[in-house]
Amino acid sequence: MKIAILSRNSSLYSTRRLVEAGKARGHEIEVIDTLKCYMDITSTKPMVHYQDRALEDFDAIIPRIGASITFYGTAVIRQFEMMGVFSLNESVAIARARDKLRSLQILSRKGLGLPVTGFAHSTKMTQELIKLVGGAPLVVKLLEGTQGKGVVLAETNSAAESVIDAFREMDANILVQEFIKEARGSDIRCFVVGDEVVATMMRTAKAGEFRSNLHRGGTAKVVEITKEERQAALDATKALGLNLAGVDMLRSERGPLIMEVNSSPGLNGIETATGKDVAGMIIEYLERIDKNSTETKGNG
Ligand code: ADP
Ligand code: GLU
Repeated sequence: MKIAILSRNSSLYSTRRLVEAGKARGHEIEVIDTLKCYMDITSTKPMVHYQDRALEDFDAIIPRIGASITFYGTAVIRQFEMMGVFSLNESVAIARARDKLRSLQILSRKGLGLPVTGFAHSTKMTQELIKLVGGAPLVVKLLEGTQGKGVVLAETNSAAESVIDAFREMDANILVQEFIKEARGSDIRCFVVGDEVVATMMRTAKAGEFRSNLHRGGTAKVVEITKEERQAALDATKALGLNLAGVDMLRSERGPLIMEVNSSPGLNGIETATGKDVAGMIIEYLERIDKNSTETKGNG
């Protein structure tokens, strides 16, 4: 197959590993800088251009779209989709997953376990919002945050009120969420490829920190997940329409609670913690899709 990896930087661990895994399995792999693509959106033959050529003959693309370029990145993916190129994650699914509020609303409608979460526009309803999620301790999250930035634990109602009001003064969109104490600074990352959980790790926050992000000094180790956790990860991935996802959940007294579903989950943490060739499994998945679509085409 001929596969393009949409990535801003070919030296990133995940990008490098996907190139390596693709080549090892005999494919032609090219890293394309998403922001350097330009498109002909009017033509009857839609096309993505890159440098001085048209990107015509790719069988599949693997989007690695950072949060800061979601708008342009999803437009480029959409253009490939118009050309009939298979994208590992569809542009609409990436856009859906990127919006934390929208994702939680979709997951909630599907009946998945979530921490009790509130959202409001008006700063006048702060106390009601705090009451809604059961009072302090609670977690306040910037909707646009990643890697644990903009996630704050408020231990008392008055601290919660100050933090919420401060964010709202800045016109920032925030979620207010029940704090899951019993998770004790750990969360579970389920790495989903297709309809399989292929690797799992538990991330634990460093001392004095409740956020388990590796970027915040958290550590990762292999973990066995329960049947219920596996099902929750698969259901969440399906609900958002993703084929590749990193599903983050907290272990609570009432079962797994989904925090977030990542559409460009990093490979470094999960491959290092588990020793698994996750990049290889992603390429294998593309091979299966390609084979099925060729067979379908062959049948007319
Ligand atoms: P980001 O997308 O920035 O990583 P998350 O919502 O995943 O933000 O939160 C970062 C970390 O904070 C999580 O990995 C988890 O360890 C911790 N955390 C987030 N929400 C809660 C919560 N409601 N209760 C307990 N811990 C939480
Ligand atoms: N974007 C990274 C991932 O999806 C975040 C890793 C982290 O900080 O825990 O794996």
